[in-house]
Amino acid sequence: MKAVCWQGTNNVQVETVPDPKILNPRDAIVKITTTAICGSDLHLYNGFNPTMQKGDILGHEFMGEVVELGSAVKNVKIGDRVVVPFTISCGSCFFCNRDLWSLCDNSNPNAWMVEKVMGHSPSGLFGYSHMTGGYAGGQAEYARVPFADVGLFKIPDGLTDEQVVFLTDIFPTGYMAAENCDIQPGDTVAIWGCGPVGQFAIRSAFMLGADRVIAIDRVPERLQMAKDGGAEILNYEEIEVGDALKEMTGGRGPDSVMDAVGMEAHGMGLEGFYDKAMQAVKLETDRPNVLRQAIVACRKGGTVSVPGVYTGFVDKMPMGAFMNKGLTMKTGQTHVHRYLQPLVDRVQKGEIDPSFVITHSLPLEQAPHGYEIFKHKKDNCIKIVLKPGQ
Ligand code: NAD
Ligand code: ZN
Repeated sequence: MKAVCWQGTNNVQVETVPDPKILNPRDAIVKITTTAICGSDLHLYNGFNPTMQKGDILGHEFMGEVVELGSAVKNVKIGDRVVVPFTISCGSCFFCNRDLWSLCDNSNPNAWMVEKVMGHSPSGLFGYSHMTGGYAGGQAEYARVPFADVGLFKIPDGLTDEQVVFLTDIFPTGYMAAENCDIQPGDTVAIWGCGPVGQFAIRSAFMLGADRVIAIDRVPERLQMAKDGGAEILNYEEIEVGDALKEMTGGRGPDSVMDAVGMEAHGMGLEGFYDKAMQAVKLETDRPNVLRQAIVACRKGGTVSVPGVYTGFVDKMPMGAFMNKGLTMKTGQTHVHRYLQPLVDRVQKGEIDPSFVITHSLPLEQAPHGYEIFKHKKDNCIKIVLKPGQ
């Protein structure tokens, strides 16, 4: 089959690789009809993850049709049209039983090694390095899905791939990040980053009752899309964000703040993760440090929600402001399984059409071009879906 393989920093190639096989009775094989490139893939493309190996298949936002099942799978059948959450969950450990799906204890065979180096044991993720289990990803014609009874979600009839594919990641991610803001009636939420995650966070914040959303970025078409979603916008290259937020909120600051940017905003170089991360405190760049800016901007007693991805030791945290303002921080990989049914219900009811975020639909073969334009925000690119077999 054809698959998008990581070949080094800023280098992905579409290659012919062996088809995936059922390895465990709980596995399924999915023939992929639509897959997408995520901001999280850019961390790998940028070379921030030292546990990528040449030839690893990328991709964690994908959906398609079930074509093969292990003998123990009961909840799905061949021919079902499914989306696949990017987080791999066993469905029965301590964490899965508490609805904390992205913290599953049984889905990452490499977790113990990561724990020794980084002090935490990540769960399994598709297409996201050996640190998260080394699973082949879904930017491919086929993928193997472990724990298929838990990890496949059947899509109701009448919805297009483009309307449901983002249930795998960015829609629940934006939604959970907004939920983590603990929005109360009348609240103002400030969101750094108007990438795909930020866009879903803006719309979710309104769905959850925010009165105002203030969105921050520098890319004009991303700011425009945020404005179309009802947000007030700030271009951080044109104004001092902290001052502007104060002024817009009567001097008090937003009730909650969100970092939907992640580690790229911290000046980590492209040459690799560890060297840079260990000197992170010295790495001030021309870009404002989002997390610090967000903590300082948040009003006293407010909430800091961090869907942006961090790895290792990155930020010099303003712990003094955080403590003295009595802030709460909520973060994490998204518990995608928790949100599948409620969010597909919202799509069916017409409350949101997630396809609004797509600016490019490309054949799988054009993935290298897709990564380039998504990374550099060329060609007005906001979100790319890839179509295997087209
Ligand atoms: P993206 O890279 O397309 O978007 C990031 C946006 O942040 C860009 O529009 C960029 O211009 C903007 N930005 C950069 N520096 C900024 C600054 N200083 N102030 C304001 N904006 C700034 O990525 P995305 O797909 O939207 O993902 C955003 C983050 O969410 C990434 O870190 C990604 O890894 C993460 N993510 C997390 C989860 C999760 O489960 N928690 C899931 C998916 C993605
Ligand atoms: Zn993603």
